[in-house]
Amino acid sequence: MKVPEEIISFFKERDDFLIATHINPEGDALGSSISLSMALESIGKRVIVYDRDPVPYLYRFLPGHERFTNSISNLYGISNLILLDCNTPERADLNDFVKENQPFTAIIDHHETEREFGDLKWVVPSASATGQMIFHLIKAMGVEISKDMATNLYTAIAIDTGTFRYSNTDATTLMDASELIRAGADPALVSTSLYDMWSRGRFELLILTLNTIEIRDGIAITSVTREMFQRTGTDAADTENFANFPRMMADVKISAFFREIEDGWKVSLRSKGEINVARIAETFGGGGHRNAAGYKIKGNLEEAKESLLREASKTMNCP
Ligand code: 5GP
Ligand code: MN
Repeated sequence: MKVPEEIISFFKERDDFLIATHINPEGDALGSSISLSMALESIGKRVIVYDRDPVPYLYRFLPGHERFTNSISNLYGISNLILLDCNTPERADLNDFVKENQPFTAIIDHHETEREFGDLKWVVPSASATGQMIFHLIKAMGVEISKDMATNLYTAIAIDTGTFRYSNTDATTLMDASELIRAGADPALVSTSLYDMWSRGRFELLILTLNTIEIRDGIAITSVTREMFQRTGTDAADTENFANFPRMMADVKISAFFREIEDGWKVSLRSKGEINVARIAETFGGGGHRNAAGYKIKGNLEEAKESLLREASKTMNCP
């Protein structure tokens, strides 16, 4: 992967950086942000790492996760903003900050949904993960990948490729992962931390969620309500990967997982093969990748499901 010269000089020539990533962060968002902050600090830069939401407990094995601040008041006075694994300030809940402070903004992302925003953009939809781009960026800056950076980057790539199973896994993904293992990442530790450390409440929430399943025309719909979170002592971060389960069935083409939020529903879409759920999410103002995308929608669950089924059937009939 070739890293654009202007991206390398952006980091070399400037001194202070605010790294921010999307709300409800997952492995790619977290691993990319932490490892880039470590690399920049190692060459003497001042860095703040921000997410609106706390690091979910399942990611607290990542070395350096405590670097994240969730306090917007810590961000003032930084002139360069880097948005990682997202391409608008909205996705990071930084709209007001950007309006008030007008930072110079660089976007580093691999989502295929295009947005106008950004002074400098490096967007590679074919990258398996933003973490894969950051791996190449760190090397291109001449920084040696430390064991802690390697663990973060390996986790980023592992989570976005379903641990090297999805169609975004190719020879370069595995070569990069192999280098990260040589640099100190421990695949067994990462996969145990990601997949085998669930709380009892999380597992109960999964059972409740799977029991909501409806399958219509190859589209599997599941949902989780706030009441279900309360009953199991869990929260939104515990639903990571829930959307993937119904896709395990051979005749399910799209899995749609609805999570109740303040004023409506957060919808996670997963598909197989050529069915592009990013296109469906875009019609609702969201976005993502071909086989994993999301959006928010107001209103009650039945209406939200019906509107999804309408848009999904259009995409499935004329992809
Ligand atoms: P998830 O369903 O796990 O939240 O997200 C799946 C993919 O879709 C991720 O790559 C995520 O960044 C993207 N995505 C999820 N929700 C939204 C959204 O509301 N807007 C946009 N632009 N992308 C989203
Ligand atoms: Mn990603």
